[in-house]
Amino acid sequence: MAGENSLIEELYQDVILDHSRKPHHFGELADADRTVDAYNPLCGDRIKLFVDLNGDGAGVEAVSFTGAGCAICNASASMMTDLVWGKSTDEALDVFECFHRVMMTPMTEELAESDLEALGEAAAITGVRRLPMRVKCATLAWHALREALTNNEAGTVTTE
Ligand code: ZN
Repeated sequence: MAGENSLIEELYQDVILDHSRKPHHFGELADADRTVDAYNPLCGDRIKLFVDLNGDGAGVEAVSFTGAGCAICNASASMMTDLVWGKSTDEALDVFECFHRVMMTPMTEELAESDLEALGEAAAITGVRRLPMRVKCATLAWHALREALTNNEAGTVTTE
């Protein structure tokens, strides 16, 4: 996409660039219990999320993604998989809520320190709020995660 690199450089976040160039947990999970196809028509991001739940379904055994997202989408998905891997389902949903709350906070408002701490590296993505058109790129994988954790059926997510 034209201007993609300069756009990301504007965010001054090397960590976003690193994750977008070499996304973590990129690839299919053969034994995934849940798969979610997620599409962001605003940008054209298309990813597939794979979640392997542990035996009793109360935790994220493994998580991965494939697809063709823009750099912000891929970086955010990569960070998300790092964050929720090995967490209980409740903890993973808490992290989703935290990320969602932060991304919906206007740039003019201060973010809660506890939220930024909970997000770790993914806190870097919060700068995307300066680019309102790209917020859905950042949240796509996270909405797919919530779908995977809360819906027994293999799902699809389309942001609007
Ligand atoms: Zn995008």
